[in-house]
Amino acid sequence: MKIPVHTASHQYDVLFGYSFLREAFASLTAITDRADRIIVLTDEHVWAAQGENFTQAFPFAFDVLVLPGGEACKNFEQYTACQTYLLEQGATRKSLIIAFGGGAVGDLSGFVAATFMRGIPFIQVPTTILAHDSAVGGKTAINHPLGKNMIGAFYQPQAVVYDIAFLETLPEQEIRSGMTEVIKHALISNAAWLEELFARPIYGYTAEQLEYHLSKGTQVKADIVAEDETEQSVRKYLNLGHTYGHAIEAASGYGKLSHGESVMIGLIYCLLLSERYGNITRDFTVRVLRYALSQQYPFEAVAKFDFDILLSYMQKDKKAEYGILQFVLLEEVGKPFVQKVDANTCREVDAELRQLLT
Ligand code: NAD
Ligand code: ZN
Repeated sequence: MKIPVHTASHQYDVLFGYSFLREAFASLTAITDRADRIIVLTDEHVWAAQGENFTQAFPFAFDVLVLPGGEACKNFEQYTACQTYLLEQGATRKSLIIAFGGGAVGDLSGFVAATFMRGIPFIQVPTTILAHDSAVGGKTAINHPLGKNMIGAFYQPQAVVYDIAFLETLPEQEIRSGMTEVIKHALISNAAWLEELFARPIYGYTAEQLEYHLSKGTQVKADIVAEDETEQSVRKYLNLGHTYGHAIEAASGYGKLSHGESVMIGLIYCLLLSERYGNITRDFTVRVLRYALSQQYPFEAVAKFDFDILLSYMQKDKKAEYGILQFVLLEEVGKPFVQKVDANTCREVDAELRQLLT
């Protein structure tokens, strides 16, 4: 399956398949033929779990740099290590980077590609469920000690090759994390699809079912990015659940709770806010919460932090303009909107969430 992404700066395809790396790259010769060398950037967990499968199926010669696992690769030190490696390997403006990994490797590699010799091409080969979101849309970044994703660029890949077979070694916590973004895509776009998702547990999907849901999620993202590449308008909707979610993620220390686990908590918070500003009912919020609890999302994290701590993180969020909190909320499922919310209301709704969880 192929999903085209049309952005103002660049057009490319997201290819979906199962164990189809060779076949997918055979269709990308217009890109690969131009490359004087191919450098694969990956992380140690991905390479240990899937490096052999990649090497067997990837149809070209390549050099590989294996970085520390997960979020540990998204920093200045590893960014510099990548640039040094590229220079030492004699990479040029015609070299091609392959980002082989989850969102962390993808974000880092995209930023490396955006800045090496003022920009060289890169292809995303995602290996997590979450990366159906992060690999598409061109947001690339590394973390600064003072804030996550603070240093980055909008830089689109030449293609995304999404091979579902790579997901087979994904740890359970990462399945939970990634499925949050799928549920988020359904919440902002399509009530019928959301019902399909809630009709079954998030674990144990077949490859066909995963391809179905991930391609639907990618289509939602592609449509939004086509309309608004640099987040001036509708792209903000993709932040549903992320303001409160990022605060929980930051307060707990990155890496303890996964991104998507934190965002699931943020989604419930946004549904509670949407009861006030939109037409979401308490019954609906409770249904989503019950589903999330049944899938072992770690809501116990909320009780560990005072609201004031979460508020200070929310006010530092990139999306907070001049400290005023903005949330993406739902009029109803499929109808997102952006709403400014004062700190008092945020406090009241935080108390409602804590009450619901007792
Ligand atoms: P990740 O890349 O950190 O991967 C999660 C963990 O799973 C890591 O330890 C990784 O090594 C391991 N892993 C990955 N694939 C595996 C596989 N197939 N088998 C075994 N282990 C595997 O996490 P993620 O959830 O994919 O991405 C999170 C990152 O994405 C965050 O840094 C977040 O900021 C970023 N993000 C970016 C965007 C965007 O638009 N650019 C959107 C959402 C999230
Ligand atoms: Zn997210």
